[in-house]
Amino acid sequence: MSQLISSITVSTSERFVPFLANEYDYDKAIVNYTKAYGYYSKSSQFQHAAKITNFIGDMYLENNDKENARFYCTKSHDMWKELPIYTSENSHCLFANLIKLYGRLEDSKQIARDYFLKALRIYENSFQMCNHTEHDQSIAQLCEYIADGYHQEDDDNNAYQYIMKSVTIRREYASSTKDRSDLFNCLEMCRNIYAKTHNSFSSVLKYEWLDLFNSDVTRLFHHCKDLLDARDEIQKSLDFHLIPKEIHAAKRLEHSLKRLKFILKTDPENDEEIIQVHCQVGDEYKITQDYNWSIQHYKK
Ligand SMILES: [Zn+2]
Repeated sequence: MSQLISSITVSTSERFVPFLANEYDYDKAIVNYTKAYGYYSKSSQFQHAAKITNFIGDMYLENNDKENARFYCTKSHDMWKELPIYTSENSHCLFANLIKLYGRLEDSKQIARDYFLKALRIYENSFQMCNHTEHDQSIAQLCEYIADGYHQEDDDNNAYQYIMKSVTIRREYASSTKDRSDLFNCLEMCRNIYAKTHNSFSSVLKYEWLDLFNSDVTRLFHHCKDLLDARDEIQKSLDFHLIPKEIHAAKRLEHSLKRLKFILKTDPENDEEIIQVHCQVGDEYKITQDYNWSIQHYKK
């Protein structure tokens, strides 16, 4: 059983990387979830069984099979109704995941948004029901769905409000590969929305976008021509002659220090990257003329 559980854990963490969707085997995830469903049903763990049924629906949707996604969505809902935690308010975060699936299956943008907003309210208020300390990632994802809907309806002011909410959340979680790729996808959506609401993508976000694009994580995206073009365009727009080099360095410094903090916290054994970032921070302090700090980072 532990082997099955570990394969499920891998499935859930990998399946949210949208740019890797083509390379990910959703069929395999469905097989694993179906096995888990069998186990939970047999052992009368019906809440887990309902949750897994929801995940199977998610996987079918990722696989563009709306018919089966709908079937498992309805099935999961029917199972939830039999559970003691099901109330008329449906305020458990696991139920919010089902509402989110309903929203994604909906063709009408307005109705889909109603589902997403309902799920968002649950995630923001369900702490006493589920005892989780936060639902930040789920909230960020819903904000992206809502922003995307508004963007497609050309309501770009609302799209902007929601995507910025997601950016604020996602930039706090940039430690794992998945988190950084989520942040990149979020900034990429933000860049598209900015194109209509503002004259140009905020320069702070440009640095973040480029930083992620050039990092090890997003080399996976390098095959996308549109993104390569965007990178060239962004690099060009950050014309170093127009930006005083101290301001440029101060911004880069802020990101490098943030990155250093993350690596030291999450991957303290990664000496190679730690040395690299220390040198980078040293370079940037040199440009901002903080020579003492610069020397201290070089020494490290
Ligand atoms: Zn929860």
